[in-house]
Amino acid sequence: MEDIFNHTILCNKCNLETKGTTIYKGAYKLRAKECPNCGKIIYHPIDLEEYKNFNNIKNKQFQVKLRLVGNSYTVSIPREIIEFQEEMHQEINKLISMSLEEPEKLSLFFTRRIRSL
Ligand SMILES: [Zn+2]
Repeated sequence: MEDIFNHTILCNKCNLETKGTTIYKGAYKLRAKECPNCGKIIYHPIDLEEYKNFNNIKNKQFQVKLRLVGNSYTVSIPREIIEFQEEMHQEINKLISMSLEEPEKLSLFFTRRIRSL
């Protein structure tokens, strides 16, 4: 399917051609069209959808159990987080990075960040 942003998009208020721009929201880069007259922003539908999906997961608080397995502790990462990482759930045995960022904060780093800056 051809990208809708390859076509001319008119502002529905001013009837003027919108210009391509990029809107930065956190780690996300959203393709957008902006009206030169009223400043109305039209986001690329795919980029906006990805950003919304991320925010849905981001705002969730997951409760997981810490378990002792041999000499290590394990926690279960909820399926929806892994599925969000697109390529992660295709490579289940992949190594990921972990670091204790603060005394009470443990971070996991997935190698690929979607449209990161
Ligand atoms: Zn306009």
